Amino acid sequence: MTLNSSSVDRIFDVSALVSAEDWAWHQRALDFGHHHLHPHIDNDFDAKHFRHEIVSQLGKSGFLGMHIAGYGCAGASATAYGLVCHALEQVDSGWRTLVSVQGSLAMGAIAHWGSEAQKEEWLPRMARGEVLGCFALTEPEGGSDPAAMTTFARRDGSDWVLNGTKRWIGLATLADVAILWAQTDDGVRGFIIPTDTPGFHAAEITNKLSMRASVQCEITLTDLRLPDSARLENALGLRGPFTCLTEARYGIAWGVMGAAKSCLDVAVERATSREVFGRPIGANQLIQAKLANMLVEYQKGMLLALHLGTLHDVNELTPAQVSIGKLNNVREAISIASQARSILGGDGITSDFPVMRHMANLESVRTYEGTDEIHTLILGRELTGIPAF
Ligand SMILES: Cc1cc2nc3c(=O)[nH]c(=O)nc-3n(C[C@H](O)[C@H](O)[C@H](O)COP(=O)(O)OP(=O)(O)OC[C@H]3O[C@@H](n4cnc5c(N)ncnc54)[C@H](O)[C@@H]3O)c2cc1C
Repeated sequence: MTLNSSSVDRIFDVSALVSAEDWAWHQRALDFGHHHLHPHIDNDFDAKHFRHEIVSQLGKSGFLGMHIAGYGCAGASATAYGLVCHALEQVDSGWRTLVSVQGSLAMGAIAHWGSEAQKEEWLPRMARGEVLGCFALTEPEGGSDPAAMTTFARRDGSDWVLNGTKRWIGLATLADVAILWAQTDDGVRGFIIPTDTPGFHAAEITNKLSMRASVQCEITLTDLRLPDSARLENALGLRGPFTCLTEARYGIAWGVMGAAKSCLDVAVERATSREVFGRPIGANQLIQAKLANMLVEYQKGMLLALHLGTLHDVNELTPAQVSIGKLNNVREAISIASQARSILGGDGITSDFPVMRHMANLESVRTYEGTDEIHTLILGRELTGIPAF
């Protein structure tokens, strides 16, 4: 990741397409990544270390829940949020994931579906990074079909009693609070669960070969008792979690282009500095063709993200449009990372370069928040009116 503009920035000047205020957010996030994340990321990925202390620094910088208005949040535009995701994911998808989980999923659920008292209780502290949240929707038996969830909240007098298992939940062993979705007698409901509540247990999934500088967990709920005041007051049905997922998927469409840019910058640099057969490898048409294709897909992906941002900022963004962004941009980011890896030759598989790390991370991003197949089926349903899930 470089702070100075690269030849990619010269050819495609994103700053010319956004407001000065939104661009300033991007620059601040690039600077944050450069100083706080980049120096450690290779070691952290190797050691499977999550740098917990960074969370409060992200909060101080205003990045957590930054597009929520009021309650101590920055109230920035959706485009600014996207540009921050892009900057953080230039370093590592794990850090953009944290901002997505905290801001779009956990805080987003409270901001969208919580009562006034719940917003006031949780959002200011979460924006400052004093309280870390997680978002628990997926279950072990098939994350693609949340309607099949078996975690159940039973009414017991004025309380709720929850039992069940959630899998792949980001940050759950470290989180202070979980936004957890459970089936009830009258549909899916969301609950705000302090993680020190008796009956809450989280265990880290430790054998990951992707997102190694980030934490994902399995949660078990055993007769966990909550007062009714812990229920997200306005959420009933799968619209609750899906609204939060749309918001997070929007950020992903921007973020993965950051990982792609990191790979493209490295590939251009290597193409001009590495000499084989007595000349830079970038002097070969086959290498230039790869670089040109990567640039074309990067620019298309960024224009798509900018378009989604513009729609979001005037409240006209639809879930299907977000599916287009998530599906296309993750797919193309993976392709760009793979082509960059080939241009780097053998060195491309080492941690001397960020490319293999991005490739491994992007496989997670392809899977979470709706797999390629699920977004394809969402778009197929949109076109035909026929659900084919
Ligand atoms: C790093 C990481 C972080 C995550 N963070 C969170 C989190 O914070 N909170 C949370 O709730 N979840 C989280 N998840 C879970 C994630 O959302 C799920 O992994 C995802 O929804 C897919 O579910 P699954 O892994 O059970 O795959 P499955 O649902 O078992 O799917 C397996 C394969 O079958 C395909 N498939 C399924 N149904 C169909 C169909 N009808 N037609 C065609 N193909 C189909 C899928 O596309 C996929 O390729 C995370 C996952 C990862 C890897």
